Amino acid sequence: MRRTKQKEAILKVLRGTRSHPTADWIYGEVKKEIPNISLGTVYRNLGLLSQSGEILELELCGTYSRFDGRRDSHYHFRCENCGRVFDVDEPVNEEIDGRIARKTGFRVKYHRLEFRGVCKECQKG
Ligand SMILES: [Zn+2]
Ligand SMILES: [Zn+2]
Repeated sequence: MRRTKQKEAILKVLRGTRSHPTADWIYGEVKKEIPNISLGTVYRNLGLLSQSGEILELELCGTYSRFDGRRDSHYHFRCENCGRVFDVDEPVNEEIDGRIARKTGFRVKYHRLEFRGVCKECQKG
C-alpha cells in the first residue's frame, strides 16, 4: 500500500512537469506530499518505474540521470549553457530503425536522439 502511494506521488510529479528533472528535484517535490519519504525510496521507485516502462530515464552524457514522465518515444534538445532538457516537436523517424536492422541484422527496438546547442533564452542573454 505505502509503496503504491509513493510510486503514485512520484508519477504525479513527473507527469506534471516538462523539465526532465533529476532524482533530487523529484525528491524535493514528492516530499511536499509525503514528508517522511527518503531519497533512497525515490531512487528505488524511479528505477522500478523506468524498468516497467512507465517513465523514461534519460542517460545524458556525463550528468545525473534525468527522468521523463512521457512514455512515448520522442527527441530531446539539451542546452549546453543552462543544462535544461527540452522535448523536441519532431516526429520520431521510425524508418531508420528498419534501415539499421536490415543493414546490421540487429533487432532494433528504438533509437534515441539528443540535439545539443544553445536554447532560445540563453541566446538572448
Ligand atoms: Zn539554455
Ligand atoms: Zn522528454
